[in-house]
Amino acid sequence: MAKDNIQTQLDRLKDAQKLTDFSGESVFVPLSGYFAPSKREVPADAELVSHRLMIRAGLIRKLAGGIYSYLPLMLRSIRKLERVIRGALNRKGARELLLPAVQPLELWQESGRDKKYGPELLRLKDRHQRDFVIGPTHEEVITDIIRKEIHSYRDLPINLYQIQTKFRDEIRPRFGVMRGREFIMKDAYSFDLDEEGANGSYLDMYQAYKEIFDQCGLRYAIVEADSGAIGGSYSHEFMVLADSGENTLMFCDSCSYAANQEKSALESYEIESFPDSPLERVHTPGMRHVPELAKFMGVKERAIIKSMLFITESKGPVLVLIPGHREINPVQLENSLAAGAVRLAGPEEAEGIMGVPMGFVTPVGSKVRVVADHGVRLMGSGIVGTGEKDYHYRGAKLGRDFEVSEFLPLALAEAGDPCPHCGNPLSVKKGIEVGHVFKLGTKYSEAMGAKVQRKDGSEAFIIMGCYGIGLGRTIAASIEQGNDKDGIIWPMRLAPFEVSLLPLQTNDESVMEATATLVEGLTALGVEVLLDDRDERPGMKFKDADLLGLPIRVTVSLKSVAGGNCELRVRRTGEVRMLPLKEAPGEIKALRDSMLQAESQEKSSA
Ligand code: ATP
Ligand code: MG
Repeated sequence: MAKDNIQTQLDRLKDAQKLTDFSGESVFVPLSGYFAPSKREVPADAELVSHRLMIRAGLIRKLAGGIYSYLPLMLRSIRKLERVIRGALNRKGARELLLPAVQPLELWQESGRDKKYGPELLRLKDRHQRDFVIGPTHEEVITDIIRKEIHSYRDLPINLYQIQTKFRDEIRPRFGVMRGREFIMKDAYSFDLDEEGANGSYLDMYQAYKEIFDQCGLRYAIVEADSGAIGGSYSHEFMVLADSGENTLMFCDSCSYAANQEKSALESYEIESFPDSPLERVHTPGMRHVPELAKFMGVKERAIIKSMLFITESKGPVLVLIPGHREINPVQLENSLAAGAVRLAGPEEAEGIMGVPMGFVTPVGSKVRVVADHGVRLMGSGIVGTGEKDYHYRGAKLGRDFEVSEFLPLALAEAGDPCPHCGNPLSVKKGIEVGHVFKLGTKYSEAMGAKVQRKDGSEAFIIMGCYGIGLGRTIAASIEQGNDKDGIIWPMRLAPFEVSLLPLQTNDESVMEATATLVEGLTALGVEVLLDDRDERPGMKFKDADLLGLPIRVTVSLKSVAGGNCELRVRRTGEVRMLPLKEAPGEIKALRDSMLQAESQEKSSA
């Protein structure tokens, strides 16, 4: 009888649900009873397509600003990324551990980072009023373990990693899990006896990262990066290329140069130099800003030398000169001044120090130290303030009318600027930073006293490296690259399931029998299946399948079964094929394998 027969099929599907892979993960799950709440409405603050799709497809839900719950589908994707990461790192001999999220503040005082990290570091007190932080990163904790446990060169090198929840009280959490406050990071730390070893560890991680992001099927670039709050000497960022990326990247198409814009240091770039002319005082009422001043004086913005007052942490105020049409690169400014944190002086503060409102500040006869971007050196002379309200100088000549104590690479690189390596024009792309490798040197081992005895009995500070990958951000970045108007387009490796199986008539015996046979065939071959067993209209099922965007969709309908077939559709290409039911599991597995293979062909452009 038909009814009994349907029950038989449902029992078969129940049995298939007991199947798990080696890690205990279900290979087959029916959508009914699975917790994947899709949503039509998205909050107005969801600006990025990945953020909207992750909410609509039921991957994440917001608990508080920058704090998200990972629902079952998202967690499956995270687990898959974890597997890729573990494989690549374990093959390099790195070892996994798990460190506490709560760390004593003293460790941060020891490294001196409690101040440097500022309000991004979440601090708390325990019941005894002792100070703790929630780890935004774990250099201090791991260095503390190593200094206590490792004492001989024989115990090095070591590379340890963990996959763990971090907390950073980001000033502007946004884009969902892309820039959260609580987020999952893989962080690894390497410890070596000498430079050569440390370089080897760095290279190992660099290669492991390539392997990881290649396997994920991401289009990415590896760029030279600034070391930021982590500190240290050398670093590269792994950037998923996407127009929505927060990072601006500079590329040279002629050589291999690729760097974060904040890391690009321009020693020179194309700029006009001006012939000598006598210094002339010009009445410029109310002209504080470069554009209006240029217009008023009938010159291009590049004829003006902007004077900006900055306050450094350890060396007080400094007047910074830059050509009028260029922006300052704040990271280069801070790095090249080497005087701690640097900030732009406020209007009143600047007037207090320079004795004149901003806009009329002058390097001529300045009592405050003057540094300048290389562009100013190339200009030779230009229009500057007079130090007197409502007046500017025309023809102020470097060396004659004002002195500069140092020329530094302070201009923010732009498209068309010369490549610092080969001089050919740079181009610009946007990227999402998903991974970061740093050579730390002895910054932490010296601050915290992590030493080993060398073979000859002398002592050496351990040379460290640290290496991070944001898991949620990587998945969001992958969605940022893989989507269309209908929804997500997962790469095979990160997809929560590999196949969406859609029986269109769940009350039909032949459809459900073919479905159960497909489920058994696919799961026996290790293909992961999400079954849409809901009693919904076909249109609804197709819509939801497209929204979730699993790589392969298989449809079973009265019509297809009558012909002994099911319909296969590839989400990324839209390619549709009819498959004989008998051959379908083998064909689908082969397609899955070839998609995995194709997606992991090397994608990096560096
Ligand atoms: P950003 O410049 O984007 O703030 P970062 O340089 O502070 O990143 P790292 O300290 O290098 O980041 O952290 C390692 C990795 O952790 C990053 O490459 C990124 O993938 C991830 N990550 C960092 N901050 C966040 C965040 N707020 N939300 C999600 N992932 C993050
Ligand atoms: Mg950060």
